Amino acid sequence: MNTTTTPTEDTLLPERFSDLALDARILRAVSEMGYETLTPIQAKAIPLLLDGRDIMGAAQTGTGKTAAFSLPILQQLLPLASTSVSPARHPVRALMLAPTRELADQVYTNLKAYAKHTPLRCACVFGGMDMAPQKAELRNGVDLLVATPGRLLDHLEAKTVNLGQVQFVVLDEADRMLDIGFLPDLQRILGFLPKQRTTLLFSATFSTEIKRLAQSYLQNPLLVEVARPNATATNVEQRVYQVEEDDKRATLVQLLRDNPLPQVIVFVNSRLGAGRLTRSLERDGIKAAAMHGDKSQAERLTTLDAFKRGEIQALVATDVAARGLDIAELPGVVNYDVPFSAEDYVHRIGRTGRAGASGLAITLATARDARSLADIEKLIKRQFEKQTVQLQPAMRPRRDADGDAPRGLRSPRPMASRGLPENLGGAVAPTPRMGRTSRQDPWFDKPYEADPNAQPAWEPADATHTGSGQRSVSPSIRPRRKIAALLGGHGEK
Ligand code: AMP
Repeated sequence: MNTTTTPTEDTLLPERFSDLALDARILRAVSEMGYETLTPIQAKAIPLLLDGRDIMGAAQTGTGKTAAFSLPILQQLLPLASTSVSPARHPVRALMLAPTRELADQVYTNLKAYAKHTPLRCACVFGGMDMAPQKAELRNGVDLLVATPGRLLDHLEAKTVNLGQVQFVVLDEADRMLDIGFLPDLQRILGFLPKQRTTLLFSATFSTEIKRLAQSYLQNPLLVEVARPNATATNVEQRVYQVEEDDKRATLVQLLRDNPLPQVIVFVNSRLGAGRLTRSLERDGIKAAAMHGDKSQAERLTTLDAFKRGEIQALVATDVAARGLDIAELPGVVNYDVPFSAEDYVHRIGRTGRAGASGLAITLATARDARSLADIEKLIKRQFEKQTVQLQPAMRPRRDADGDAPRGLRSPRPMASRGLPENLGGAVAPTPRMGRTSRQDPWFDKPYEADPNAQPAWEPADATHTGSGQRSVSPSIRPRRKIAALLGGHGEK
């Protein structure tokens, strides 16, 4: 790969959307979304993309990266936008690939909102849904297409879509796509695209495979990073409760009944565990639903909608199912099981504290989790202060006559637990550490060192940081405000 540099040293960063050379129709849509200031990834990436550069973005879902890539793409496609009904006037010019249906759906929802005052047409295709309506939409002509790789290949094979005029390609959550085994599909899809194009790759991690992918498909990319993936957001309060294995469920119920956690994602390490815990919570009168890989696409979307409407208090999810979920203002997450991979901990707690809101991340740790916790502490470079929860007497799991705790956790309500198999709702059997080796990225073995130029996600950009040397103003930034303040002086407020 050619030299990859980070542009922050010598480029002035815009602060507000109005600082960017964006069309009034796009700015209006952004303002209707309630956005005012740019997130760090937006401030860094949008000017580069408006200048037509390929970029590798080190940013996770939740940092505002969808707008970071969508807005400049929309801007550059606007001169080609047509109000004609003819499909020929709406060839696919931008392709956004996402690893999961949920993420594709979220990208599409945002993209549609940003494009709503323009004649540009957006569509989304993912698996688990009938292909016929997707085919009809594609045949009518689509300017920007969001897709999961598998379903896109189905459409390519059925010849319902042509990618010969694509100018922009976004590979979103590229590391997840490789994890899921999409590399061959990705390579096939990229083979359908014109060589002359802009390619953007976003990834939370930059493993050797991701770098190789970037090397093969990006041209002289710039690296844009806002925070190391192992840096946890500063606005998430992290608590670790030391609990007995048998008290885990009761502790969770008590936490959910108490106020600070009106709505949460509860993370577990296995599908089986998700189902068990959900049933157990429901028996305790908590509105819960499970989200895991065994659920159909329709079930997942219905559950997600119900959760977003506030009809479900606890969404019990596995890591795979929760990937890329963007749920606005989620007040908290609970790690019912400590994840085996420290990297998953960072992803999990990133589900809360989004868009600048504060969040609470609670981890229930048993004596068995000491090693995993130590790995997490090493990764995020901070020590947890372990707390204990005083269980209310009614919440305590019943003990056997000889004083031994029951092998599994039983419902604290005697009626509810009667006749139920032992261990229902109990501790989740750990899945072996084996099988996770593919996630090994030597990058994560290095102790975390703050990038002096990187802003933790959602922390307001430090306008006074100048770096060394003189900074240039990108032509994509409207140079009409506060240049003095950005350079460290005192511009007008
Ligand atoms: P993303 O990382 O693209 O999934 O975005 C995470 C969330 O932040 C989404 O709900 C966006 O609607 C929201 N968001 C994106 N950009 C901004 C912004 N500049 N100000 C406030 N919210 C934003």
